[in-house]
Amino acid sequence: MKYNDSIQRSAELLRQALPMMSRQSAALNPISYAVWYTYLREAESPLRQAVDAHLQQHGTLDEAATESLYRRFIDDADPAAAQHMVDGAQRLLAGMFDSATLASNETARYGQTLSRVSQALDGEALASLDEVREHTTLMQATVQRLQQRLEESQREIGSLREEVRRTRTESLQDSLTGLANRRAFDQRLAACLAAMAADPDAPPPILVVADIDHFKRINDNYGHAFGDQILKAVAQVLRTVAPDSGLSARIGGEEFALLLPATPLEASVGLAERVRTAIAGSRIRRKGHEDPIERVTVSLGVTAYRAGESAVQFVDRADQALYASKSGGRDRVTTLGA
Ligand code: GH3
Ligand code: MG
Ligand code: MG
Repeated sequence: MKYNDSIQRSAELLRQALPMMSRQSAALNPISYAVWYTYLREAESPLRQAVDAHLQQHGTLDEAATESLYRRFIDDADPAAAQHMVDGAQRLLAGMFDSATLASNETARYGQTLSRVSQALDGEALASLDEVREHTTLMQATVQRLQQRLEESQREIGSLREEVRRTRTESLQDSLTGLANRRAFDQRLAACLAAMAADPDAPPPILVVADIDHFKRINDNYGHAFGDQILKAVAQVLRTVAPDSGLSARIGGEEFALLLPATPLEASVGLAERVRTAIAGSRIRRKGHEDPIERVTVSLGVTAYRAGESAVQFVDRADQALYASKSGGRDRVTTLGA
């Protein structure tokens, strides 16, 4: 499920969703909000059919039914869209909470005025005023209950928001090394090329790819867990070398990339060379072993983006440069010019 509604449209959907949500027996939580938001945005969706069928049969959506509809029809929402939706709900609830507070204060003031007026009255007039006061007290209680419910919903949305933020970060991060993962790399590359297309005079982005040499042997000799430590160490070197404007990513098992949108080719080759020497120069020891292990090296390929080419063509050329480094003897940087 993708959500790309404008702010105006989503605000309108929010307004329509709230009364529908509050008519159900399910709690006013983000899940039921998502169900009703989705229900309203398309006239003939499978979700809408399922909801209508359920309502016809049972009259209302309870917690379990709402949750199950959510899992069936919405759960695959992409994290960015989920974030967008939760943010919208948060804003709307904050606005409603403010209105409820205002209403609560106004009712309280009204009650005080009535008390003052009643002191100046007697007899029949006082009796009818008492009735009004009773109603005012009821009204105050209702507004307070509404405030409480809104507060609870706000808390729930707050924690959901945090969860969405975490999921979103995790979905773009490589869990072993903490670098950007392949998905994040692809996204950033696409954005970078879109920016290039919009401004053809901008300097071309540079791509550096790196692959650990004979990594299989390292795993075989020292074990997979130790191999993982090497991956982390290589990632740390990339992180250190990458400028703020660049992206360092783990794009495959033992393959890494640096996307450099604002670094000239020559300087990028310099960065690649720094990565190479930093890794080749490190003397890595295993816990409990005096001697460092055999030298770990990486091979790298560097290339500049050519106007008009696709992301795949760009990455392929960087890979060709990398393979030239491998076949040339490894532990080196090869550049394929623009
Ligand atoms: P070359 O110099 O030609 O790149 O040789 P290589 O041994 O590095 O390349 P090959 O593609 O034959 O082997 C890559 C190895 O990387 C095999 C695989 O087990 C290992 N590998 C991939 N992902 C991981 C990982 O997450 N952890 C560990 N420890 N090893 C991994
Ligand atoms: Mg490889
Ligand atoms: Mg390798």
